[in-house]
This record gives sequence, C-alpha cells and structure tokens, in this order.
Amino acid sequence: MPELPEVETIKQDLQKIITGKKIIKVCVHNPKVIREPALKAFKKSLEDVTIKRILRRAKLLIFELSNSLFLTVHLKMTGQLVLRQKLSTNPELVEGLVYPGGAKNSRVAFHLAGGDILDFNDQRLFGELRVVGDWKKLKFVQSLGPEPFDLTYFDFRNMLSKKKTKIKPLLMDQGFISGIGNLYAAEILFGAKINPERSAQGLTEAEKARLYKEMQGVLTSAIKHGGSSVDDYVRLSGKRGDYARFHQVYGRINEPCFVCKTLIQRIAQGGRGTYFCPQCQR
Ligand SMILES: [Zn+2]
Repeated sequence: MPELPEVETIKQDLQKIITGKKIIKVCVHNPKVIREPALKAFKKSLEDVTIKRILRRAKLLIFELSNSLFLTVHLKMTGQLVLRQKLSTNPELVEGLVYPGGAKNSRVAFHLAGGDILDFNDQRLFGELRVVGDWKKLKFVQSLGPEPFDLTYFDFRNMLSKKKTKIKPLLMDQGFISGIGNLYAAEILFGAKINPERSAQGLTEAEKARLYKEMQGVLTSAIKHGGSSVDDYVRLSGKRGDYARFHQVYGRINEPCFVCKTLIQRIAQGGRGTYFCPQCQR
C-alpha cells in the first residue's frame, strides 16, 4: 500500500506536470470509487475546471480546483494515478513507460485540455475519490495525527512517553503520526536499532532520538528515490519507484542482515507481518 513517500512522489510528479491544466471531460468507468457527491454532480463539478495546486495530507492527495472545490484521491491498496500522454513531449514520461494491462484498470479517466489523460486505475476498487468544499473537514482528515516532517523532536518524545503500546503498531497508527505504514515502520525501526516489540514508553532517551532521526531520514531518502514499488504502486509516468533496493528488512525474511549477517525474521504483529533483525534490533 502506498505510504507517505509514494504519495508525496505522486504529488511532486503531478505538481510538475498537471498544475494549471484544465479538465475538459471526466469518464467514469466504475462509479464504485466515487464516494461523494453522486456521479452526475461529481462529473459536473470537475469539468471545465482548472487544477490550481496539488497538496498532500498523510496518504491523501488533494487537487485544489479553480471553482474553489477540492478533488481528493485516496489510493488505498491498489490505486494508481498514471498519465497517458497524447504527444510525447516529455521524454521522462515516455521512456520506460509501463502500463500494466493497458488502461483496463482505469476506473476514472480525467481528459485534460491538450489531449493528455490522467487515469485513476484501481484493480481492487478500494480507492476513494471525492469532490468536497473543504477537505480539512473530512472525518478521515480530522482523525489524523501530525505529519512526520511537522513534528519537532520535543513533541515526538513527549508523544512517545505517554504511550504503553508496542512501538511498531504505534508508528503505523494514523491517529498518532500520519503517513507511515508497515513498510516504512519496519525500515525506520531497523535504522534506529529498536525491536518492534518494545513499548513506546520504555524507550530510552537515546533510542527516542535515534527513532526521530531515522523517521526523518528514511522518509526523506524514500521520497528522493521515488518511493518503493513493492506492489501496485507506480509513479505518474507509470515507472516504478526506486527505493526498494535500499530496503534493509522489509520483505527480506531469512535473508542475511546487511549489518550483522543474522537472518531477518518475520513475526505477526496486529495481523501484519513485521520484519526485523533480532541481533541489531534490541
Ligand atoms: Zn543485523
């Protein structure tokens, strides 16, 4: 599932390429992904409207529109935003373009002035599209904890000291901190040398400091490399993100740790597979 680095990558790609473009037509191939308003109103509120700005909050993408409304896109499990370009004007988009299964998983196609088409693909249909007057008032948004990059170390430290929960599920709790999921929680904890089963409250001052530093560092580096394509995630160009080759533990069960050669273990934690090095992470 796309996490903060993947969604931020798509945001930055969109910003560069579709800011200022006008949506001329919206083709809905499967209305299941449209949560609000009803289909007809959804289409009407998007046609002949210019995309002014792209924002991100946690794993949510927000398109600010010229009619003062906002289109929000939640990719969830298998959602993708991929641009089909009519003219090959952007070499970066044309080279290496992969389009799994053509446009067959396109659920909504946004036709842009000039001929390009922005597809919302979603194989499993868990994605959510909305047009709203104020995205900040969405219930989901109001339940979110702070963004990792907005947190000071002082705040983070205090937040941790109030929690008895195990550290890994806590990092993934969107109400605690937003944007981190299973993959990056595992990578951050490896970097900080902290066992995922430890309680948040029980971390030493030095461990909390390492955790904060790794959280910023891992997320920043993942964004720099366009995120991790371990499942359906691709960039706006259809290209895969490049960060998976830097993974230290995620998806590496029974492979030797890059630091100490101990085999990476996978345990179940709250229904999710958790990868870690039993030697490096104490
Ligand atoms: Zn190790």
